[in-house]
Amino acid sequence: MAAGTAYEPVIGLEIHVELSTKSKMFCGCEARFGGIPNTRTCPVCSAQPGALPVINREAIRHIARIALALDCRIAPGSIFHRKNYFYPDLPKGYQISQYDMPFAVEGHLDVTMDGEQHRVGIERVHQEEDTGKNIHAGESGRIAGAIYSLIDFNRCGIPLVEIVTKPDIHSPQVARSFLNKLKNTLQYLDVSDCNMEEGSLRCDANVSVRPAGSDLLGVKTELKNMNSFKHLEKGLAKEIERQIGLLEAGRPVVQQTVHYEVASGEVHPMRSKEYAHDYRYFPEPDLSPLEISQDFVDDVRTGMPELPSVRAARYVTELNLPEYDAEVLTSNRDTSDFFDETLNYFDDQKMLSNWVMGDLGAYLNASGKKLSIETVSPGQADQLCWLSPAGFGEFLAMIKDGEIAAASGKAVLPEMCETGKTAREIVEEKGLAQISDTARIEALIDRVIEANPEQREQYKSGKKQVLGYFVGQVMKESGGRANPRTVNEILREKL
Ligand code: ADP
Ligand code: ZN
Ligand code: MG
Repeated sequence: MAAGTAYEPVIGLEIHVELSTKSKMFCGCEARFGGIPNTRTCPVCSAQPGALPVINREAIRHIARIALALDCRIAPGSIFHRKNYFYPDLPKGYQISQYDMPFAVEGHLDVTMDGEQHRVGIERVHQEEDTGKNIHAGESGRIAGAIYSLIDFNRCGIPLVEIVTKPDIHSPQVARSFLNKLKNTLQYLDVSDCNMEEGSLRCDANVSVRPAGSDLLGVKTELKNMNSFKHLEKGLAKEIERQIGLLEAGRPVVQQTVHYEVASGEVHPMRSKEYAHDYRYFPEPDLSPLEISQDFVDDVRTGMPELPSVRAARYVTELNLPEYDAEVLTSNRDTSDFFDETLNYFDDQKMLSNWVMGDLGAYLNASGKKLSIETVSPGQADQLCWLSPAGFGEFLAMIKDGEIAAASGKAVLPEMCETGKTAREIVEEKGLAQISDTARIEALIDRVIEANPEQREQYKSGKKQVLGYFVGQVMKESGGRANPRTVNEILREKL
């Protein structure tokens, strides 16, 4: 390719979501993360001869919710396939997955970035099962350099949904914001905890480059198992750079897997990728085709929660909030639910929004804790914030009614979040109650005026800006607790 050619990146994502069902995809074992290794297994998920799989109905409800939220067409009939490959974490020697007749196809999800909308097509959404987990003992934690490896089959058979996008993404930034939007949507749907550290949400990114303006697809490489959106964005940018470098040097891009090394920020090509025919896909003979009736789809649709974009629109039209607020508040379901619930206790929605996006948001970012509208128990306190919607509403009402100065409120709120004490308790303990009692304020003002005869003369002779000095002195005398509005009014009269 001639030097100076402009290139356009082309990205398609494959996202695996572990569903939060009670039991596994094809057996009754518990599907939760963790547990003592190999205690959540049975003849089915450990592949004993003669054991037969049974489809988990709840998992199918979950995947249907996902498909509907992504505006996909749900197939009235889909089938399961065996995807054959040999690996120790796969006891059957194949994964039950879907192949040419997936659960749902042809959807999309829109993301807005810098005011511009990008529509990302969804090629397919299909149902499969997770594998076990290899644990490599040794310094690296990876297979290379391991002294020995252990296998935990607890994860084996947990329902997985794979979401495959069309190659519609043209920058690492849009890839990241697509993933954020998708994760947020899945959390609203209550189908997965989307915990990336625990691997409930994993992403493979396919990327190629082509001369800008071309509509042909270049040869792609794949960044596998990215468990952080930030790393994925960086890895993609690096890989795009590498591919452009190759093409500029007149060398071909080879279809292969690429590993992004977080520490160095470098990308390393790994192995050449398998093709579909390497997996010897064939229909799973132990499961009959999955038939989805219109009644089932309608029933799932009726039970769908309000999705983030719909909720944001409601905040704008019904609550009169700016679009910016609506976008920020709905970008996280816990926060948005908390906001909604607090409205039952406090009705100034803009003031509420400001505090949620401002001081409360800052506390959540700094502490890494989450909000919950349920009563928090001590065992959850390292993950959840103690603040309750009722308590938060009371706190805001105290500020609005002038019982606490907004400035003092900044210190009260984090303590409410940390300790679960009420605003009233903290205000009393710390003596932060705002003084609105005119008699007490008058006494303070008299004292200040008496102590500053010179400034008083200046004020009288027309230097009105001295008022600010007096207000400052009175506030100082009151320890910041005098109601500034009352101070101003009385000072004007007295001077
Ligand atoms: P494979 O057969 O390698 O699994 P698929 O056609 O199934 O490839 O696509 C897998 C993912 O890769 C999809 O998200 C798709 O959008 C994306 N993709 C396909 N071709 C390209 C390409 N040339 N460049 C970037 N992404 C691509
Ligand atoms: Zn089992
Ligand atoms: Mg594929």
